[in-house]
Amino acid sequence: MEEKIGELTPEEQHKWLVAENRILKKLSDVIDIYDVLALLVDEAIVLGEFDGVTVDLIDEQRKFMSCEVAHLPPEYKAMERTYRMLRTPIEAYDKRIDDLSKGIPISFYKKDIEKYSSNVSNQMERWRVKSQMVLPITFNESPVSGELLGIITVFYQQKDEVDSDIVKKLESLISYFVTSVKNSSHFSSLKRQQEAIRSAVEEQQRFLDFVSEVNNLTSPDSIYELFCNEFIHRFSFDVAGIFMEENDVLVCKKNVVSEKFRNKLRKWNAFAKNVAYELRQSDGAIVVSYLQKIHVHVPDVKEIMHLPMSAKDKEGLEALKEPRTLVCMPIMGRDKVYGCLWLWSVSKQVVLNDSDISVIKNLCEFIATAINNSFLYETIENQNKEIKSSKLEIESLYADLEKKAEALRTMATTDKLTGLKNFAYFQEELVRRINEYRRCEGEHFLSLVIFDIDHFKRFNDTYGHIGGNIALEDVAGRIKKSAREMDIVCRYGGEEFIVILPKCNLEGAKGFAERVREAVQAEPVNTDTVAVPVTISCGCSEYYPNESGEHFIERADGALYRAKENGRNRVEIADS
Ligand code: GH3
Ligand code: MG
Ligand code: MG
Repeated sequence: MEEKIGELTPEEQHKWLVAENRILKKLSDVIDIYDVLALLVDEAIVLGEFDGVTVDLIDEQRKFMSCEVAHLPPEYKAMERTYRMLRTPIEAYDKRIDDLSKGIPISFYKKDIEKYSSNVSNQMERWRVKSQMVLPITFNESPVSGELLGIITVFYQQKDEVDSDIVKKLESLISYFVTSVKNSSHFSSLKRQQEAIRSAVEEQQRFLDFVSEVNNLTSPDSIYELFCNEFIHRFSFDVAGIFMEENDVLVCKKNVVSEKFRNKLRKWNAFAKNVAYELRQSDGAIVVSYLQKIHVHVPDVKEIMHLPMSAKDKEGLEALKEPRTLVCMPIMGRDKVYGCLWLWSVSKQVVLNDSDISVIKNLCEFIATAINNSFLYETIENQNKEIKSSKLEIESLYADLEKKAEALRTMATTDKLTGLKNFAYFQEELVRRINEYRRCEGEHFLSLVIFDIDHFKRFNDTYGHIGGNIALEDVAGRIKKSAREMDIVCRYGGEEFIVILPKCNLEGAKGFAERVREAVQAEPVNTDTVAVPVTISCGCSEYYPNESGEHFIERADGALYRAKENGRNRVEIADS
């Protein structure tokens, strides 16, 4: 049963009212839970002249009492900060928590110290407590159904007990604070939640940035580096290394050391750079992870240092000096294992839960995808290069082919001996010219001249076939020289030549024929041995509308016949 305290005198009542006003006024100015509790502690000290006061609050899950504010005797002042972080599991309070929940304060005395749990007695001894009182901070008017928010502990080092009068006053004091404690602890928990949400959003954004950064990378080396830094940043590891399988060994493709140890792990860097793990499990933990496609997680390497291990692992551990947490995670996509990641912490353990491990696993799958993509990218780039060079090759081959085709075309349309166009070409060209004439009828003329060397049989008989050939070449050259650029000069066959004269009438044709005839007559042909005078006879015709090609030629041929008949070395024109 609670002990009644005596009635307050009017003077005391007045003092209390003043105090109450002062407290409420102060409380209205503070919102932070620590400020509220510090105020409570200050008031409690003044009220009871205690040597020590602490306030603990119960956590949201109601599993712990956490010390929020501690005011300790001068000799323990230095411990106040440490003490403030102390968390006591609710179970440690055993049945006392029920009393406290009901709003009943509990007192402890030095004389009864043997009766208390070691928790309580140790603490009383540590602080040299003679008497101590624990009072509940309960939200609700009714103490029976009240919600326990926390406790306030007050103690004396000299006095044998806490005066019941003071207990009563303390309870009143607490009652002023309860609402503030409730609200501000609610407020601070909201603040904490808000902070957690904000940092989660930040973290997510950072991760999205990371992902897009990875997607932009095309070289494996830059991908390895980005991932290693991510592991170091995200989980506070000190070393991240990426090993890839190459010619049946695992070799280190990237070794990143946290800023903190960058200069201290020179020996390690040399080790990582040179080490190569053979693909047998006995060569090292990383090979086990790689071969079995499982992750290896050693929460504290310190505890397994005495166990037998491979020479390489031993060397690695020595190079790291103070290795603590190790994770090996295979880098694999679908069923293919590309390599293995390893993460080390140095001097401090990294505590990982299942979700951390699965994040590491996912990130490793992500490495596999990114690496795969970069390999594909490289292959495609190389293919593109190959395609480009084969395109160039094809283009030059095509150009060669074009040249050859052009040469063949020329060959097929050229007379070998004279270099003039041949009979086949003449036929085609004549058709084209006649068509052209028909398209632009009335605008242009079209004429033909046939040349035939006089008595050429005799020439051949006298100077030989080779001499004849020289004469043929010479005459061809003279015709060509007299012709315009647009004229089509052809060898008609044997010692006969025919020239198509576009945009040229009969008169023009006759003029041209005369010029050629004179040119041939003017200079003898030089065979190898002698200079021989040569003459030619010419027949001209001008195309008339709707005439056939054959007829057009026939008429020129007829004129030529007449030129022969009329004495040779002359020009005759055809009637239309
Ligand atoms: P005409 O004055 O009546 O034209 O008399 P011709 O002797 O020139 O006439 P003919 O048609 O009887 O003789 C043509 C000769 O041209 C016959 C042949 O030996 C010669 N001939 C034809 N083609 C070639 C050739 O490619 N080279 C040489 N050297 N002679 C050729
Ligand atoms: Mg002839
Ligand atoms: Mg002849």
